[in-house]
Amino acid sequence: MKNIVLFGPPGAGKGTQAEIIKDAYNLFHISTGDVFRYNIKNNTSLGILAKQYMDKGELVPDEVTIEMFNEVVASNLDCNGFIFDGFPRTTSQAMALDHLMNSNNTNISAMIAFEVEDSILISRLIKRGETSGRVDDSNESIIKNRIKEYYKKTAILKEYYQKQDRYYGINGEGKIEETSIRLRKVIDSL
Ligand code: AMP
Repeated sequence: MKNIVLFGPPGAGKGTQAEIIKDAYNLFHISTGDVFRYNIKNNTSLGILAKQYMDKGELVPDEVTIEMFNEVVASNLDCNGFIFDGFPRTTSQAMALDHLMNSNNTNISAMIAFEVEDSILISRLIKRGETSGRVDDSNESIIKNRIKEYYKKTAILKEYYQKQDRYYGINGEGKIEETSIRLRKVIDSL
C-alpha cells in the first residue's frame, strides 16, 4: 500500500491536490474535515459536537477525531492505499495513525507538505468562502485562528516525520497544475 499524508496549513491545497491524484494512483481519499462536514449536514451527534469547534476554527478533540478516523479507515481497507488529508493534526493523532497502519501490516509512506505563505493562504480562503458556504471560511479572524492552530498544534508534526525520514516539503504556491507536477514527482519516487 502507498499511504500518503498531505500536510500544510488551511488553504495550502491539500483537498484540491488529493482530488487530482487519487484517481491517478488509485488511492482512497480521506478528508477528516469532509467527514465532519458530512456529519454536520446530517445533524448526527458527532456533527453537533464537531461544529462547536469547527465554527471557531479550533481543532476537534483528539479522542473524537481519532475514533471517527479509525472507523473510516477500517471500512475502506480494500484499496491500494490512502491519501490522508487533514489528519494527523496533532502528535497523538500521528501516533494513533502509525498504530492503525501497523496493525494492518502497512505504514505511512510519506508526509508531503505544501509550503505556502500566510498572506496567500488568507486570500485563498477568503475567495473560497465566497462559494463554499463554510462558516470557517467566512471571516478573516476565524481564518487567522485556523492558521494559528496549525502553527501551535500541527506544524510540530513536520519534525515527527522528518525524524523518520518520511517528510517531503514542496512549494504549494503558484498554479494548481504546477503543484500537482511537484507532488507527482515525490509520489513516483516513493
Ligand atoms: P479542513 O477541512 O481540513 O480545513 O478542516 C476543517 C475543520 O475541521 C478544522 O478547522 C477542525 O475544526 C476540524 N478538523 C479537521 N480535521 C481535524 C483533525 N485531524 N483534528 C481535529 N480537528 C479537525
